[in-house]
Amino acid sequence: MLANMRIFHCPVDGTRSPITALTWCCPVCRGPWDLDFTPARGVGVNALSGRIDSLWRYKEFLPLDTSAISLGEGRTPLVPLTDTVSAKLDYLMPTLSFKDRGAVMLAELARRLGPDRVVADSTGNAGTSVAAYCARAGLPCTVYVPEGTSPKKTEQIQAHGARLVAVPGGREATALAARAAADEPGVFYASHVFNPFFLHGTKTYVYELWEDLGGRLPDALAVPVGNGTLLLGAALAVSELHALGLIETRPRLIAVQAEAVSPLAAAFHAAADDLLPATPPAPTLAEGIAIPRPPRARQILAAVRASGGTFLTVPEDAIREAQRDLAARGLYVETTGVACWAAVRGGGDAVGGSVVVPLCGAGLKTGMAG
Ligand SMILES: [Zn+2]
Repeated sequence: MLANMRIFHCPVDGTRSPITALTWCCPVCRGPWDLDFTPARGVGVNALSGRIDSLWRYKEFLPLDTSAISLGEGRTPLVPLTDTVSAKLDYLMPTLSFKDRGAVMLAELARRLGPDRVVADSTGNAGTSVAAYCARAGLPCTVYVPEGTSPKKTEQIQAHGARLVAVPGGREATALAARAAADEPGVFYASHVFNPFFLHGTKTYVYELWEDLGGRLPDALAVPVGNGTLLLGAALAVSELHALGLIETRPRLIAVQAEAVSPLAAAFHAAADDLLPATPPAPTLAEGIAIPRPPRARQILAAVRASGGTFLTVPEDAIREAQRDLAARGLYVETTGVACWAAVRGGGDAVGGSVVVPLCGAGLKTGMAG
């Protein structure tokens, strides 16, 4: 069944666990797992033509090389916004957000492991995506969301047959509720934060750019960062492509947070390796990246530094304007998904050369900001 048996390891203390054990975090430090996986060999872009038109065309680079539950995710278009900035339309996915890249990996892994049930937690998009792929896999699924999550997102989760639990007290309380459920026996925690298979899904974002740009990457990749799942996936892909000799130069990672909730930007600009003591978060339109204490903070900070990149923050007005601006260009994007365009169009010197911004979620999920 599990042709690709893999081992989880803890990046902090080196603890190891087989993935079949269903331990969702390191039992020593309670931190997130990394995966023992390096693509053994690569293929050049020319070898990819004619393959299946989904992210599964990159099978040599993935820890699971095929999926019985694919919904055709991946291969999103790249559209120019200016002479130097292009947008990758990752909202054109089966559940209308980029999270499908990671959720299909988690659900495929769960399908092979055969748990009693699956739990997930999110501000909406990851939960929606896990719910859809669990439906496809025939796995019972419970999704924990913060009370006040956009009704369009909760509707979508329930439409896929998942049980929805709305948790009072914000994102952190929601995560705690899900993790308590995840500790029960027979439960697979489809965590986009703790389970590294998710990152091996999101990394296909960069593989697609590499293929579409003829075997190279832009000078910089702008990425919205809450829990850093797209950023860490991107960093993983860049490092794999470089190690395999498939790219010569590595792009800078420009990490973007909402000014209202920017713990990583604060740590980065204070030259810290980890989060600083918490400052109370303010409300933001960018609900998908409003994460006050991301568990992979150290890895995110290290990845941005190693790339020679930086952190930018965007105020609420800039998010509103970016959403209106994109809509006026024909692109209807949710309020979190416009954050990178907001940052890059006002980014000044920090943003030089060619840049790709992801448009991560569809506007229909949140509507226009007031
Ligand atoms: Zn540990």
